[in-house]
Amino acid sequence: MTSAFAPPKASPSPASRKVIRGAGAFLAFAIATLGAWSSSVLAAWPSSALADPASAIPCQALQEWTLARDANLDSAPTIKERAELQRREFEARGRAGERIFAEYLRGALAPDTLKTCVARQEDREILQRSISRAFLEGSLSRLKTSRAPALQELVRLAEQEISARGFLSFKALSHDAEQPIELGPRKAGFHRGRHSLFMDFEAIAPDEWLFIFVHELAHKFDARLQAATVAYGDPAVFEDVFRHVAKKGATPLSKKDRERLRAQLRAGLDRGLLAECRAWTLSFSLYETGIQEGLWARIDWVDALLQTRPASMSFERFTFEFLDPRFSDPEPSGFYGLPLVRLELASLREVLRQEFRASP
Ligand SMILES: [Zn+2]
Repeated sequence: MTSAFAPPKASPSPASRKVIRGAGAFLAFAIATLGAWSSSVLAAWPSSALADPASAIPCQALQEWTLARDANLDSAPTIKERAELQRREFEARGRAGERIFAEYLRGALAPDTLKTCVARQEDREILQRSISRAFLEGSLSRLKTSRAPALQELVRLAEQEISARGFLSFKALSHDAEQPIELGPRKAGFHRGRHSLFMDFEAIAPDEWLFIFVHELAHKFDARLQAATVAYGDPAVFEDVFRHVAKKGATPLSKKDRERLRAQLRAGLDRGLLAECRAWTLSFSLYETGIQEGLWARIDWVDALLQTRPASMSFERFTFEFLDPRFSDPEPSGFYGLPLVRLELASLREVLRQEFRASP
């Protein structure tokens, strides 16, 4: 994988070389699954060790809510009293979510808290919603303290969406919660079609949480990704190319059809490789600022990766040159099995390489 890197300005230590290899393997895995340009995302980064929760007191964060939940509604003689019990349960649940988030950030959340402390699946699902809200609101309010304009802008966009739509689709999951099936067993992701984010807090080290959160928010508010998601998969282009090949074999496409095909392939890259490029570029360029502002701690695998960036190379070019060789084309079958399509894609990717090479 080192071939993908420009010569590092300082030779990484053996330990960091190991981390880089780890990062490469994880990123390569994630990218391989991206190759088909499905709605999946690059999100299987390697992890720092999770904080040691040995000192955690299991289930403490949920005590108040458990009591409120178990209040016997039948014992309430009037509708008003029943409503009061329900209101208390709702509020206690909100506080439980906030406590879970606070314990998590302190590294004091016991592993498998939800599974251990909440026996019934339906209770876990209800609680999961409060936890998601607490993680989202807590993360945004922490990012809001940043002085970095890019972070302020992400928070502004998130708050704008929440006030306009009443919510921002975000799930903070524990291992046993249901993840969107098409996203597979990942730590976090952004669903291209649904515009929703998810992050598995039991798999992400607390020190990395906001760094990853920023990466996912960057996808969420990436206007080019949104446009590409709309443009990509135009059935008319696919049908026309198939029709052309059936009728005319290897004859080149007309200029107009070739442009339409390239626009489709470009949209595919714009929601895959280039979307990851943009989001990682933003994440990497904010990395040091976030550390200085106490939003996240040093992350071994990010340090090891960024050590290999020559000082004169932009984050954008560095990220592209790291991701490009690890980003495989879609499986060569069906549409993507057509030589004409594969050639066009190869040429498009070569153009991108040249563009990035020409940039600082
Ligand atoms: Zn991503």
